[in-house]
Amino acid sequence: MNQQKDKRLYVVTCPYCKKKAELVTGRYLYTHRADLWHKKFYICHTCDAYVGCHRDTEKPLGKLANKELREIRMETHKAFDPIWQVIGYGFTRKTAYETLAAELNIHRHECHIAKFDKDTCLKAIEFSNKLLSTLREGARDGS
Ligand SMILES: [Zn+2]
Repeated sequence: MNQQKDKRLYVVTCPYCKKKAELVTGRYLYTHRADLWHKKFYICHTCDAYVGCHRDTEKPLGKLANKELREIRMETHKAFDPIWQVIGYGFTRKTAYETLAAELNIHRHECHIAKFDKDTCLKAIEFSNKLLSTLREGARDGS
């Protein structure tokens, strides 16, 4: 208990129903993932929405996300990640995110898919698909 930790208390509300979210341990959400049991999450039971906390704090990582938003964020990763994961495309993770941030007109430090709302996800998916088709054309032409 003598570590310097963020011990502030946060009042977190659900962005969907505006009710106060409950703080739970990872065990509540991930029964079979013992490695996540020590993590904390804010949850809204009514909306099946949740968000994790910054390491060793009760500070939420962002807003609670419902199932629809969690799924579209996963789709965004699926669309975007190949840009920097395929070696021949000439991107690193860093330059790919910089390109995406510039496209979305947001700061690089705000450019985390885990923080995107639905509209931003849709824009990111559209951008990724366009960029990837260009990159794949390039790969075919050998240029
Ligand atoms: Zn709610």
